Amino acid sequence: VASADDKMFVGSIDQGTTSTRFLIFDKKGEPIAIHQEEFSQIYPNPGWHEHDPDEIIETIESCIEGAIRQFEKDGHFRESIRCIGVTNQRETTVLWDKTTGEALYNAIVWTDTRTAGLAKELKARPGSEKLQGICGEAISSYPSVTKVLWMLKNVDKVRKVYEAGNLAFGTIDTWIMYKLNGGLEKNVFVSDQTNASRTMFMDIRSLKYSDEMLDFFSYEYDMRKIAFPEIVRSADIKAFGQIRSGPLAGKPITGCLGDQSAALVGQKGFDPGAAKNTYGTGCFLLYNTGKEPVFSQHGLLTTVAYNFDGSPVYALEGSIAVAGSGVKFLMHNMGFSHASHKITELAETVQDNGGLVFVTAFSGLFAPYWIDDTQGTMFGITQHTERGHIARATLEAVCFQTKAILDAMEQDSGKKLAELKVDGGMSNSALAMQTQADLVQIPIVRPRMRETTALGAAIAAGFASDVWKDFEELKDVNTSGQTVFEPKMHLEDSRKMLKKWEKAVAMCKGWTA
Ligand code: ADP
Repeated sequence: VASADDKMFVGSIDQGTTSTRFLIFDKKGEPIAIHQEEFSQIYPNPGWHEHDPDEIIETIESCIEGAIRQFEKDGHFRESIRCIGVTNQRETTVLWDKTTGEALYNAIVWTDTRTAGLAKELKARPGSEKLQGICGEAISSYPSVTKVLWMLKNVDKVRKVYEAGNLAFGTIDTWIMYKLNGGLEKNVFVSDQTNASRTMFMDIRSLKYSDEMLDFFSYEYDMRKIAFPEIVRSADIKAFGQIRSGPLAGKPITGCLGDQSAALVGQKGFDPGAAKNTYGTGCFLLYNTGKEPVFSQHGLLTTVAYNFDGSPVYALEGSIAVAGSGVKFLMHNMGFSHASHKITELAETVQDNGGLVFVTAFSGLFAPYWIDDTQGTMFGITQHTERGHIARATLEAVCFQTKAILDAMEQDSGKKLAELKVDGGMSNSALAMQTQADLVQIPIVRPRMRETTALGAAIAAGFASDVWKDFEELKDVNTSGQTVFEPKMHLEDSRKMLKKWEKAVAMCKGWTA
């Protein structure tokens, strides 16, 4: 018998680093329709990485069209979509002219390292050591702020608009909301707390723009002369406005989460102590620390995990810059294969790494090491080294860093993790997940439905729109058919592998110094 619930759906815009997706979920959390499009990755110089902000919006619009077409072909009606959630790549920065609504430069992507030198200069300024205790992050090329400073200094158009007092700043969530709401006309100019906590502009406790942060970064350009979006909760019936055009015109956007927060929510990591690791282009481990922010002594970041009801939930985060992008490097640069799963198959042709360690630090190492003066380095190449070893070492590099991050989290939180939930493209690799279990020596739990990022945004939107009323109502969402990878390797062997990795990391330091 069909019930009202069978006819209630939530749309989810998942704007990632390499592709955009639109998914339509039913109340059980099953994706009923999906459309995905890749978009241009712009690399103007080594270490630079940009996106065209307008192309991002175009892919969202055409993904909505594609998914709706499929949804209606399958006998559903767009009217039954209650609300829309948004999740997005974080830190990536867009500057635009608030009088025209036009972007002034390409978006500078989170992976971009053109500001490594600037970050170093900023770190040397007095007071820089206090910043992490305010905003949760340390200075590096990763948060949005250095990207803003770079554009002000290097892009004439940006500086002119700044001088005229018309410069608007946004992370990708802000840009999406602004544009989907019709831009200039409605002027919806907001950022959710999970995204705002990636900029270095927000005080992680008060959830407002921090005077200390704005002062610190105003040494050359006055940050207060830039328009910043209003910081709002992750679930809100009004703040995000509604889609203005296309097949979903008039639908309210009621939820927004940065992609890693969304994955934690999609994995239902609602209890303090829950953790998830997403193996995408990069790899991001989030550990729910509950109602109070925990500040790391071991190289982790503090971030807002989500805020559905006015009280924020915090997470410790370990970010790894290179995960699936290492797999893609083997495919595209080294010509190892044409498909990601073939890299795993190649890694399976050898018994073990044969003594090869690949520190995939293409532009330095992120957590918990934060080494910026190194590059990708292989140790232990012999006459017997094969492509299989390199493939294996590439997958293992992510697992080693995850282990180091988990150790740091246990030290910061004083608690030991019972299991680790995983998702993201590289979690398709059973070999990588088994290696992960062997290295961390706790079970790795992989759900069957791995569109957890998109599901997280749908959950945020659904909470605001009464599709789900509380966590209890989510208990049957995304629980069926998970795979558990139990540790199989002896602890001693696992420790030996790790020791070699740590030695390799120590040895690669200073290469570009
Ligand atoms: P993002 O959302 O960051 O764009 P995804 O979660 O879609 O990334 O993951 C894509 C990444 O996962 C790609 O880099 C791809 O090479 C990698 N990947 C997908 N399947 C496999 C596999 N079977 N083995 C190894 N890597 C894989």
